[in-house]
Amino acid sequence: MFSGSPPVHLMWSSMYNPEKQKLKRRVDWRRLSGLFRPYIWQEVQITICIAATSMLGLMPPLLTLSIIDKAIPKNDFNLLLLDVGLMLASALVSGLIGVYQGYLGSFVGESIIRDLHTRLVTHLHHMPLSFFASTKTGEIMNRVSNDVEAVDSVVTMTMVAIMTNVLIIITTLFAIFALDVRLAALSLVLIPLMVLPLWPVGRRMYDARKRTRSKRDEMHAATQETLSVSGIVLVKSFVKEDLERKRFFNLADDLMKLEVNVAMVGRWFLMAITVMITAGPAAIWLLGGWLAINHGVTVGVLVSFVALLGRLYTPVSSLAGVQIQVVSALAVFERIFDYLDMSEEQDSPEAIVLKETDGAVRFDDVTFVYPGTNRGVRNLSFEINPGQMVAIVGPSGAGKSTIAQLLPRLFDPDSGAISIDSININDITRTSVRSHIGIVMQETYLFHDTILANLKYAREEASEDEFIQACKAANIHEFISSLPDGYKTIVGERGHKLSGGERQRLAMARVLLKDPKILILDEATSSLDTENEAAIQAALVPLMQGRSTLVVAHRLSTIMNADCIYVIEDGSIVERGTHSELLLAGGAYARLYRANMS
Ligand code: ADP
Repeated sequence: MFSGSPPVHLMWSSMYNPEKQKLKRRVDWRRLSGLFRPYIWQEVQITICIAATSMLGLMPPLLTLSIIDKAIPKNDFNLLLLDVGLMLASALVSGLIGVYQGYLGSFVGESIIRDLHTRLVTHLHHMPLSFFASTKTGEIMNRVSNDVEAVDSVVTMTMVAIMTNVLIIITTLFAIFALDVRLAALSLVLIPLMVLPLWPVGRRMYDARKRTRSKRDEMHAATQETLSVSGIVLVKSFVKEDLERKRFFNLADDLMKLEVNVAMVGRWFLMAITVMITAGPAAIWLLGGWLAINHGVTVGVLVSFVALLGRLYTPVSSLAGVQIQVVSALAVFERIFDYLDMSEEQDSPEAIVLKETDGAVRFDDVTFVYPGTNRGVRNLSFEINPGQMVAIVGPSGAGKSTIAQLLPRLFDPDSGAISIDSININDITRTSVRSHIGIVMQETYLFHDTILANLKYAREEASEDEFIQACKAANIHEFISSLPDGYKTIVGERGHKLSGGERQRLAMARVLLKDPKILILDEATSSLDTENEAAIQAALVPLMQGRSTLVVAHRLSTIMNADCIYVIEDGSIVERGTHSELLLAGGAYARLYRANMS
């Protein structure tokens, strides 16, 4: 429905205060596990696969025992063949299971990321306009793309890694205790030495990760701001390339240092673990060798025990590493959940859906002040009867655009009531209020796509003929037809390849296709050349036909035949009447008119 973007001044200050939002401080595990719940069946299958492969993994060391202690001493070649055959078979079967498990793992992981991504973007679509006015676009983009990607590997791989390692440890513990209790007990004593030093590492990693993510936010915001079409024009026209390079380098340099820091956290502990992995078997050789010499432990038991030890220590050390990954991923999850916890635009539970409307609009003593400021509009009362055209004029900053944003409920009044067909719009769902309103904004927003795709945004199912009719009415069909690619012309980033007047006429065609009962026309402030002006004036006639229209007028030529003109100053109505009545009165409007015409 929005044929334009919010006026730039909206970006200046914020009425959105994130501090006031209820933010949960810590990620709770229940919430994280909630992400996994829809895929429980696949997760059960993954667990079965992992259990099967970790049991199959025990076979080679145990078969080694049989080869060394039975087949070779007894010169039993058949047994040797059987043992080796079983070794090969177990490797093959476990490899095949691994492939299936890999498929399931990435299916579950990627589905969770898809769900999280969609939830986040959908949630953002329902955030109030004030949120976007006060949050840097780059920061939002960073959370939506990079943060979600950052948790991707944790979700897709870490969870499977945890299960795999836990199951390998359990099965190996059974096997080593069955082989020799004394050696098994010794191997367990060494484990705490490997794991304990890692707990504080997780915490430090979490903090470091949090800092790098917010530095990334800053970088994205900086890139996004300077690399947009308007941003780059600003940079170039003020010759600020050098300053921007320095600013960017400083940010990138900070990030580089933080990343090095992240990479180094825990390196010493990881080194200690590596030493333990090597030292563990050495201790077993010592005790086991002594037991073999004095207490008859067989060589086969000893060899397979050391082989099994690898299956114990490697998973323990990777679990410790996973703990660091998970704790630091929590920092990113927290950022995603912070966004998900911000409150959306919410309709009252009793809000009705307005199916049809005559387009009767009424403002009744409406006051709205931007939070934290004393600017806005006060005690406004006026009405637009069905099919009428009402114009709002006044100096810049008087509150005209604010009125245009109150009607589609982009902001809600602090007091007073706005009604459509005598129903307070606070009691109507936002989507149905907006479905009856068409807006042509000062700055028309177009997607970087074809003209046709931009038109289709208003009504996907419209026929080609309808598109052409709308464009003819909006006085833009001839221009489009003259382009080499016609309706398939790509309009460029934000429609930059079209002139302001052409963009606005395209926006008008879009509104014609939507065919709303109520029209808000926020006229372009930039003066148009006479030809464009005439083209737009001609397009306005069919646009306003049969609609209640609220014109925020900058060029008084548009509104001379308005049914009623309201003059706003400092947020309040100071005069009302038709063009000729107001000229006769010789007040604020007459002064504006003289200034406009001179
Ligand atoms: P006009 O359209 O008549 O030029 P606006 O309705 O845009 O005026 O603005 C009315 C007043 O409200 C101005 O003083 C402007 O600075 C202020 N204003 C507009 N948007 C915001 C905002 N998002 N936060 C705070 N103040 C705002």
